[in-house]
Amino acid sequence: MRVLVADDDVTSRRILEAILKKWGLEPTVVSDGLAAHAALVQPDAPALALLDWNMPGLEGPQVCRLIRRRETSNPPYVILLTARGEKGDIVKGLDAGANDYVSKPYDSEELRARIGVGTRMLELQADLARARDALAYQASHDALTGLPNRRAVLEALERELARSAREDGVLSVAVCDLDHFKNVNDTWGHPAGDKVLNAFASVVKGCLRAYDVVGRFGGEEFLLIAPGAKPSAESGVFERVCRSVAAASATTEAGVITFTVSIGVAGVCGKGEAEALLASADAALYRAKAEGRNRVCYA
Ligand code: GH3
Ligand code: MG
Ligand code: MG
Repeated sequence: MRVLVADDDVTSRRILEAILKKWGLEPTVVSDGLAAHAALVQPDAPALALLDWNMPGLEGPQVCRLIRRRETSNPPYVILLTARGEKGDIVKGLDAGANDYVSKPYDSEELRARIGVGTRMLELQADLARARDALAYQASHDALTGLPNRRAVLEALERELARSAREDGVLSVAVCDLDHFKNVNDTWGHPAGDKVLNAFASVVKGCLRAYDVVGRFGGEEFLLIAPGAKPSAESGVFERVCRSVAAASATTEAGVITFTVSIGVAGVCGKGEAEALLASADAALYRAKAEGRNRVCYA
């Protein structure tokens, strides 16, 4: 683990550096508060810091206060090293955002134990951050296809609508519904149907530009958001999706399955409402189904 040591006294720095190395830690050493702050706000900052109280530039508690102001999911664990044993000072240091303090001259075993506490706290913090990220991912992604789920794709639509209104740009959305998907399940079985949904998702992703979004709207229905694309055959993207899907297949345990999709497209130029846009795309999809499926219809 990397540990920041900030101390303006060269002897203290050398001693600390040597004992940290002996304990298997990787010290980064600086001699003033400004350098300590700079080191702690880097993207790849040391997770634990030993800050001297009195330093030129910024004092230890000032460094604490500055780094605690930052919004971050992995704040460093800070131990203040202080020659001051006064209770008022300790309170001031902790209030500034230090996690712990050690009075100088310190007992090296005590320092080691306190670094151990810090390490455990950091591990807990990292576990929590991982759990939170996993939950956030699950809340916004469809478990089967890994695509953004209904909520996430609707949020993306609201964002893109706001952008198109601001920039007076064009935005198209496409409701894509797999054709006769019930038959796929009935003929090949539900697990094979799941494989078809996955195959569909990867084919569509392969057709899109980096700023297009595709999400699972529900069941065998997907929503595609294409900023900058006109809601007409001219834009090419929707026809490409339709053709690529028809040319693809899913290899399943039950056999190789081909499938097709019907697509309803609607667009806005400038300001638009999600609900009205989706209703228009749905109406176009209905037409695509009625006209024989495996095709794109435009609102
Ligand atoms: P259409 O061409 O008119 O869209 O016909 P369809 O059969 O695709 O439409 P319908 O709405 O009747 O059937 C959709 C089917 O999709 C029914 C449902 O069991 C199936 N389905 C929905 N979600 C899943 C899923 O996650 N996995 C699998 N295997 N099937 C699903
Ligand atoms: Mg459907
Ligand atoms: Mg369908």
